[in-house]
Amino acid sequence: MAATVEPATRYEVVIGIEIHVQLRTASKMFCACSTNVRGAPPNTLTCPVCLGLPGALPVINRSAVEHVLATGLAIGGQMPDVTRWDRKNYFYPDLPKGYQISQYDLPLTSGGALAIETSDGPFSVGITRAHLEEDTARLLHQDAAGGGRVSMVDFNRSGIPLMEIVTDPVIPSAEAARRYAEELRLLLLTIGASDAQMEEGQMRVEANVSLRPTGTEALGTRVEVKNMNSFRSVERAIAFEVERQARALDAGERLVQETRGWDDTHGETYTMRLKEESEDYRYFPEPDLPPLRTDATMIAAITARMPELPAARRARYSESLGLSAYDAGVLVSDARATALFEGVLAADPALPAKRVANWVTGEYLRLIKAGEDSSASVDAGQLAWLIGEVESGALSNNNAKQVFERHAASGETAADIVAELGLRQISDSGALGATVDAVIAANPSAVADYRAGKDQAIRFLTGQVMKETRGQANAALVQQLLEERLRA
Ligand SMILES: [Zn+2]
Repeated sequence: MAATVEPATRYEVVIGIEIHVQLRTASKMFCACSTNVRGAPPNTLTCPVCLGLPGALPVINRSAVEHVLATGLAIGGQMPDVTRWDRKNYFYPDLPKGYQISQYDLPLTSGGALAIETSDGPFSVGITRAHLEEDTARLLHQDAAGGGRVSMVDFNRSGIPLMEIVTDPVIPSAEAARRYAEELRLLLLTIGASDAQMEEGQMRVEANVSLRPTGTEALGTRVEVKNMNSFRSVERAIAFEVERQARALDAGERLVQETRGWDDTHGETYTMRLKEESEDYRYFPEPDLPPLRTDATMIAAITARMPELPAARRARYSESLGLSAYDAGVLVSDARATALFEGVLAADPALPAKRVANWVTGEYLRLIKAGEDSSASVDAGQLAWLIGEVESGALSNNNAKQVFERHAASGETAADIVAELGLRQISDSGALGATVDAVIAANPSAVADYRAGKDQAIRFLTGQVMKETRGQANAALVQQLLEERLRA
């Protein structure tokens, strides 16, 4: 076994990603059953269509079609005027019809790209296609009451609309694969196509990983990796697989085309099954559904309600508002942060964007992380007022943070909290003068130190004034008043 493997130079890594996302619709793909499966007792959200009973006829969910078209528009894909549904035939206990309604050679959108940032710089991930299909039921394997094991089927998920998005085999690293998955999720959240929560199974990532000797053209043997339940797992699993394949190739072994699962606990992939070829599914056109026609009016309506996309928003924050690429990235990666940032600037367009960004990426996101969603009810107008008070010198930064936390927890207005806690900063030299004089009189040794040339004594005296005023004094002004008096 080679002591060190450096696949990045010996081999060229070629990764293609397939992502299934649950689309955000109220009802299922081909029936009126609810998609709100979380917490629903098994088999309560079903009907003859999603149970696959003979004779039941599917009806297309328009909203699901629109989500795929919106995705196509967002990635610059092409949408044909007419597409089709196809049956993907296979037997499994979670698929009572014996086939899944999907799209084979005429997907709703094809082509397009998604730009990502990696540690090696920007990279554009080419998209092959995005199509619509229906989810299967769910199998539950449990211990039986009388001993042994039992398998049960829950049809609540059967027929939930899924979009499958497939990239070209162009992604060059595990890191880029993770970034792509993250950026796609952000895009889908932004356009409202999916809630894309990985831990809820609403976004399932599969990676096709192959290696070829650097400088060669032919693709190597492809291994599909599944069961990656977080973005971190996506990167770890692919990195493991790249290394495993590089070692095998170094040792002169032949890789087999297979599907491997990711074991997050042990940090390794394992063989699940040998890969089926697509011919195994015997795709043929779905006879129960007409061809799917998309018209220009529908596309125009989706285009008209398309929000600003993440990449455009990041560019605007950097170029027009002068934010750093890092700040722009952090703000745009969280919808709540984006909304608050936009809200504060709308409430007071005169505030410096950089200062607002600091509050949102710092104080606000810290609160969200510390207290989950419950503690994060921050009103944009209140935060705008608070930042304005800091800017004008009426409130110290530390006191403003205190007010901010209390507002987020209680919903009280910032002005009420400032008044109640007596936090308004004293920036009036007349009002501060008496306190400064008193502190000078009470601390003769510090005064002597300062006059003897020990400049740091002024810090101690400033601290004493801050203490006397319970932190409300404008520290810069206090220092100025002290210097004036001590030099006299
Ligand atoms: Zn149904």
